[in-house]
Amino acid sequence: MPRIQKTIYMPVKKLSVIVPCYNEADVITDSYSSIKKVLETNFPDLHEMIFIDDGSTDNTLSLLRELAAKDSTVKIITFSRNFGQQPAISAGIHCCQGELAVIMDADLQDPPALIPEMVRMHEKEKANVIYAVRRQRLGEGAFKKITSSLYYRILNYLSNMELHEDTGDFRLIDKNVIDAFRALKEKNKYIRGLISWLGFKQIPVYYDRSPRFKGKTKYSLSKMLSFAGTGLLYFSTKPLLLTVILGFLCTLVGLFLGVFFVIKKALYPQEFVHGWTSTIIIIIFFGGIQLISIGVLGRYIGSIFEEIKGRPEYIIKEQIN
Ligand code: UDP
Ligand code: MG
Repeated sequence: MPRIQKTIYMPVKKLSVIVPCYNEADVITDSYSSIKKVLETNFPDLHEMIFIDDGSTDNTLSLLRELAAKDSTVKIITFSRNFGQQPAISAGIHCCQGELAVIMDADLQDPPALIPEMVRMHEKEKANVIYAVRRQRLGEGAFKKITSSLYYRILNYLSNMELHEDTGDFRLIDKNVIDAFRALKEKNKYIRGLISWLGFKQIPVYYDRSPRFKGKTKYSLSKMLSFAGTGLLYFSTKPLLLTVILGFLCTLVGLFLGVFFVIKKALYPQEFVHGWTSTIIIIIFFGGIQLISIGVLGRYIGSIFEEIKGRPEYIIKEQIN
């Protein structure tokens, strides 16, 4: 009797895991081990891990070098200074060699165990992007949760883009998306928005996000604000429209008040000696609105200036493996 060969499920696509790192010496070795274990078990010989050292000032880079010396699937890109998480992810997508890529944090907040599930979903559903949605966000304060929820509501309203409020950059993308991403020309990237904008078939996978394994968040308030600003400025011109609408409303109110006061003065001239307070209030109010409008305009012009300078998104100092 002929022997029946058992078919074992083996993915055939190479998988790249992209990990931006900024001062992650506390966690990087443990993160490597956890990710490696999952990759070794599920995608033996068909994986690479790309660590982008985003100008760390602690010994993240020397730890990464040790890992790369032992394991040739570890690739390192180092930046000439701290450029930020988004440029780091971008460099990873530009340089990866897999047909599939997973973007994840270095602090194990994004569980490596979810990777095989993402790949399975990609194959089963023929989806191009599997984005991870946080069911629970442990270890995040009320302030971050509230502001983030508010921000995504505003962003979705202003931009006609449907970005799930509980997503980060943790996602799997396939070759179509990788190629489309590489063709994008803008320098200041809001990656989760861009990937959503690229289209193709995108489906969610749900997970519970644990607190940071060790170390502190690398996102200061100013970094967070600048990141949020990029999202809004690059995905919507509606704020410009809103300032115009606001301008019109104020003009209408002004006209109305003008007519009202003229009539009132004609009818009751004796009542009209004071009026200093109302003048000041109106000046402050309209002055404020003008400044806001000019500010919004200025932010857009600033972004155009940034793009037109044509400076690179990041500068690579060294590539290892
Ligand atoms: N990160 C980076 N450059 C930065 C800030 C952060 O490469 O300037 C990396 C960081 O090492 C981590 C990921 O981006 O792998 C997310 O940062 P973090 O965990 O501090 O953000 P949080 O999860 O608190 O939003
Ligand atoms: Mg984190």
